[in-house]
Amino acid sequence: MSTIHRLHVSAELALGAEIELETAQAHYLQRVLRLDVGASIRLFNGRDGEWLAEILTAHRGRVLVTPRELSRHQPDHHAAPTLLFAPLKKTRTDFAVEKATELGARRIQPIITKRTQTKQIRNDRLESLVREAAEQTERLELPTIEPGIPLFQALENWNPDEPLVFCDEAGDDQNALWGGEHGRALPMAEVISQFSSANGGVLIGPEGGFTLDERTQLKNLNFVYAVSLGPRILRAETAVVCALTIWQTELGDWR
Ligand code: SAH
Repeated sequence: MSTIHRLHVSAELALGAEIELETAQAHYLQRVLRLDVGASIRLFNGRDGEWLAEILTAHRGRVLVTPRELSRHQPDHHAAPTLLFAPLKKTRTDFAVEKATELGARRIQPIITKRTQTKQIRNDRLESLVREAAEQTERLELPTIEPGIPLFQALENWNPDEPLVFCDEAGDDQNALWGGEHGRALPMAEVISQFSSANGGVLIGPEGGFTLDERTQLKNLNFVYAVSLGPRILRAETAVVCALTIWQTELGDWR
């Protein structure tokens, strides 16, 4: 893994392009990494692959760089999962979003459910979080962060050809659907091994879990599959990591 610092830019990346870095990026390179004119950095923008670039000028907080050589081609869009999760308390949401980026989620859709505690989501903060995580994890594209919307609104325009696994923690609850006498949800790996594509999604509920009404509505959607993440109740952010890990192992780019 290269030690050359990696930055996401929105500008086009091509030989001869001269790109002015954002102030915060310029400050970081100059003040923290102490890089100067002639130093190399790596740039990616989610469209043109990754380029080895050179610092052309670095003066008074302004840094100009130019791509010198394409070091990684931009792959075609590969199948990857969408994460739907109920936002949690600040640091837990940050953790969930950062791990979803490292685990290759294509899209992150915060959803509001009856028991979601944190209704307002700071998308600008999440955008910079996923950008840093994508730089660190060596992704060539950023996951899309959608604005938080109610769960069933998000499912209204869900592509029904893409399976959505609903992580159902109430497997042992005698009063809940898919729990008790209905039989607990099947293990996630077993359920998704029948899927044909890694395009699809995982749905993780809030700390308080899903209501009986929400699980009934979910049960009526033919693209939704209830799954169990084992016999213990996981924190939502733990469930995000586990569900995406199982997804990538069974269907995605960990194979
Ligand atoms: N209702 C739980 C808390 C929910 S855990 C309680 O009684 O404490 C938060 C979310 O993580 C759940 O909505 C579910 O989506 C997921 N989750 C946690 N443990 C799980 C498990 N063992 N199986 C499936 N999903 C789980």
